[in-house]
Amino acid sequence: MKAFNKNPSGLIAALFAIIVVFLGATLYEHGIISDDFYLKLLTTVQGNVAESSELEVHFIDVDQAECILIKAPEKTVLIDAGNIGCERKIENYLRTKGVFSIDLFIATHPHADHIGSASDIIKKFPVSEVIIPEIPEEFLPTTSLFEDFLKTLSKRNIPVSYSENGKVFELGGGAVLEILGPAGYSGDNLNNYSVISKLTFGETSFLFTGDAEEEAELLLLDSGADVSCTVLNAGHHGSSTSNCALFLKAASPEYAAISCGYNNDYGHPHKEVISVFNDFEIKYYRTDYDGDIVFGSDGKTVTVTTRK
Ligand SMILES: [Zn+2]
Repeated sequence: MKAFNKNPSGLIAALFAIIVVFLGATLYEHGIISDDFYLKLLTTVQGNVAESSELEVHFIDVDQAECILIKAPEKTVLIDAGNIGCERKIENYLRTKGVFSIDLFIATHPHADHIGSASDIIKKFPVSEVIIPEIPEEFLPTTSLFEDFLKTLSKRNIPVSYSENGKVFELGGGAVLEILGPAGYSGDNLNNYSVISKLTFGETSFLFTGDAEEEAELLLLDSGADVSCTVLNAGHHGSSTSNCALFLKAASPEYAAISCGYNNDYGHPHKEVISVFNDFEIKYYRTDYDGDIVFGSDGKTVTVTTRK
């Protein structure tokens, strides 16, 4: 009651915001209000909703695809943008979380389940900088999806650069994102060109590996990169072609987050991977069962909330 006595108007505003958001979501889900009206409602009230952690990493539930939002003290990073058709979910999600611009967008690799909605998201949110992996000309996809993505960037004069290992992005409050990979892969498997990055905030850290498979994981270990982390973005949607035991041992995460669709055609996450997670006592969350997975960090400990 002390807090209420000290700042009753703040508490009332927060309660009001929660009620409006809840009612708005219910009306939206039942098709009673339009997408645009719902977005306006959210953007109007979200200023009243306080963030609970200094840094947040959101594994957005985009079915059998991937989209990760990093909300650092001063900057916002988006890693991948789901599949074709995910743009509405991602746009709503970002706006609900108070994101109006993206400082850095990383396209881990040019597959549809990672860049499917990238062009649409870039058209809706100002983006300061984009990173893509450098892939030899002969393996570059000629899909219209990838070409449209590059065209959108060029039309909007958004600077694009190839990922550069060791490059560091300061995200404010001491949060740092470092590019670690790909580390020397030169074959024809696009998954293995995935940009790998590590976010460090105080004593906590997050490793993002895209769809890098075992060969790329081992190359990364050979490069001497420090892959130890508190939270691991499970490789390739929890596939057994990634997440090899040697890599998991080196990463030694407390938590893993798996982006996968319910009952997906690939059987992701594979039971062998879940079994290794259990053997290593890695607590894992999966978007097909848990919905959006949100990790919060105060620099010392990591909290997890899920929403299904
Ligand atoms: Zn993928």
